[in-house]
This record gives sequence, structure tokens and C-alpha cells, in this order.
Amino acid sequence: MKKIVVKFGGSSLASAQQFQKAGEIIRENEGRRFVVPSAPGKRFSDDTKVTDLLYECYALAEKGEPFTEKLAEVKERYYEIIKGLGLTLSLEKEFETIAQQFQEHAGTNYAASRGEYLNGIVMAEYLGFEFVDAAEVICFDNEGVFLPDKTDRVMAKRLAKLEKAVIPGFYGARADGTVQTFSRGGSDVTGSLVARAIKADLYENWTDVSGFLVADPRIINNPEVITTITYKELRELSYMGATVLHEDAIFPVRTEGIPINIKNTNAPHDPGTLIVANTSLQPKYTITGIAGTKDFVAINIEKDMMHSEIGFGKRVLEVFENNGVSFEHVPSGIDTMTVFVKQNTFQEKEQEILSQLQRSCQPDSIDLESNLALIAVVGRGMKSTRGTAGRIFSALAHANVNVKMIDQGSSELNIIIGVTNSDFQAAIKAIYDIFVTIQL
Ligand code: ASP
Repeated sequence: MKKIVVKFGGSSLASAQQFQKAGEIIRENEGRRFVVPSAPGKRFSDDTKVTDLLYECYALAEKGEPFTEKLAEVKERYYEIIKGLGLTLSLEKEFETIAQQFQEHAGTNYAASRGEYLNGIVMAEYLGFEFVDAAEVICFDNEGVFLPDKTDRVMAKRLAKLEKAVIPGFYGARADGTVQTFSRGGSDVTGSLVARAIKADLYENWTDVSGFLVADPRIINNPEVITTITYKELRELSYMGATVLHEDAIFPVRTEGIPINIKNTNAPHDPGTLIVANTSLQPKYTITGIAGTKDFVAINIEKDMMHSEIGFGKRVLEVFENNGVSFEHVPSGIDTMTVFVKQNTFQEKEQEILSQLQRSCQPDSIDLESNLALIAVVGRGMKSTRGTAGRIFSALAHANVNVKMIDQGSSELNIIIGVTNSDFQAAIKAIYDIFVTIQL
């Protein structure tokens, strides 16, 4: 029998009705034996996620203000689900412990983790699966640094004995027992770790969209879904701001070659997006996806004979390193070098960086341009297709978008284009249209 790990996001478990959909999905396939729930998310657009309620509630406790009412709101969310599912489970003892721990200032990590912890208990009861507290199987060191290998060992051992189990997402514990969470959205990471530990055949990540979209739906009306994407392509797109999956969720399954299937709880028969290590399937449109982020600054450094000055680039980048500013791209010419950095981090250190560049590199001029956007056009199909760059740039020219920078990685997996913030949307639209709309 196949081993499938199913992770359900917050919106998939926001109410009893959503729980029922998840239950049906699990029962539909015998292989779906390991379940990783998030905390209940939003039931409607201006609802509050349980995780956020818990953060708010703990903030009150920390200030010594009354928090009982806020905690009652959290409790209400769970009882609404429990009653709606017709269960007789009582969480009274759990809520007493939580209130006491809040009183004793057990920490924000502990507070936030209770959303998943309680939802795990409810889910285990609903399915009749064993509940495994993530604090037992997800390990951090005493500084809060995640320990992947120890986690894999401990979790593999614990889960080996179980046919079926529910492991709540988002948190684990330090060696001293203190609860530690991943960053927000971290249940995706838990799902991936469980898949690695049990050597799953598949990791299904159930959410509220039918997979990754070729482009941001806030810019493109009803964009196409990406059917298959490689881990590498996904990494490029997520780095540029496409968010469906937590970026740390890729590494654990990647080491085991386990595919991830992004699925929609509200449309369970949609194929979703399959994320794989490698595939011979060509993407439908040459490009796999487009993503981008606004607000970069380009620092353009010019110096005669820069080209033959050994160590010039190193000195430039050292200045950024010494100021804790990470660079995104460094396109260069014979006697020019441009460094792209995120606007907000750069501007905090701007004057220090400029004077240090002056001192250590003695350039002829330094030019700054802000409010730039970077767009990544990603696709494994570009390698075998001639003219992709040509099509992108003619589409941009037709849309009257001035291209400020071009960077193609030597892997031919992506082309990065720099434009002004104000051209950002028009550029994405032009690229989407040339590859996708006209093919439809
Ligand atoms: N509940 C947590 C959050 O809202 C973790 C998760 O859903 O993955 O970020």
C-alpha cells in the first residue's frame, strides 16, 4: 500500500464543514495515512486565523492584562468544529493548561503552537488515528536552530510503529522541552519532514487553490495552473515572491526524491501542481511561470580600467557584506558594475555603504536608481527552445516597457529582467500574453 502524507492548510480546516471535506479526501485513498494539520484558518475573508488569535491573546498575558475573553474566542473556534463534527471530545483540561502556561509566560512560540496542537487532537479523534505530539518528533537545539538529521531519526523511529497518525504542523521542541515553532506557514515544513521520515511515495499539500499559477492572479485575470514544476523552478519562483508553499518545505523531500502535489480541498479532483525533482514532460508554454518583486535599488559603479583591476568586484561586494546587505544580482560591463539590492535594507545603511565604496574602490562615479522591480521568467523548457529571450523582449518593447537589466543564469532556467516599479504589472502582463494567452 502506498504511503501518502497529507497536509491540510488552515483554510482547509477552518470549520466543521471544511474538516468534513478533509475527512472525505483522507478516506477516499487508503494510502493517506499520515495527516499534518495546520491551525484553523479564516472561515471568511475578514475572519481571524486561530494562530493570530493566539498571538494576540498571549500578548495580553505578557503585559499582565486579562486574556480570558480572547482565549474563549479560541476555544469557541474548536468547539464549533467539534460540535459540527458530532464529536464528544472535551478540550477543557487542555485549555486549563494553556491558560496556566500563558499566566506563567511560557513564550510566544508555545502560544502560537497551540493552534496546531489542538487541531491535531481534534483531527485524530475525528479520524480515529493516533495523535503524535510534534514536540516529541521535531527537534531543535537549545538556541532554537532546527536539527534536520536528529528529527529524521527520532521521527522515523516513532512513526515506524504506526499504521496511521496525526502529527500537528508548525512546531517541535528544543532538547530541554521548550516548544519552538518554524516561521509562519511552517506546517508545510512539518509535512515535508514527515514525508521524509516515513519515506512516503507522495506528499500531498492540500490548500485552497488548485496549484501554482503561471502568474500572480492579482495581475493576470484567471491565470493558468502549472501542472508540473521542478524543485529548482519552484525555488526560483518562490524566491521572487510566488508563495503557495513555505520555501523550507522543499529541502526535506528533495533529499528523498518525493514528489509534492499541491491540491485544492474545495476542488479535490483538480489535478493541482506536481512538484518533482526531474521530469521529461515539457511545460505547456515554454515558460513554467513568471514571478517578480518590486522595490530594488541599483547601485551602478563606474571606473576606468575596472576591467583589469584584480579584486575590484571583491572589494565592492565586501562593503555590502560588512553592512549586512545581501545582493540580488550583479550585472557588469567592461568598466561598470551594478549591484541590485532590496531597497529597504539598503536605505538603512545607504550613506555608510556609499562612503565605504568610495574609500575602498575609488570609483569614478556611483549612480543610484531606486524603485526598480525584478521579474523572473522561469522555465526548464527554455533550454531547448530558441528565441525565448527574443520573444520576451519584443513583447516588452510592444508594451512600451523599458528594460533596465537582463540576467540569464547559465543554467538557462530563468531570465531575470529589471524594470521600473511603475512598469511592473505591464511587463508581467506582456510576458504572460506572449507565452500563454496567444497559445490558448
Ligand atoms: N498556523 C501557522 C500560521 O498561520 C502555521 C501554518 O499554518 O502553517 O502561520
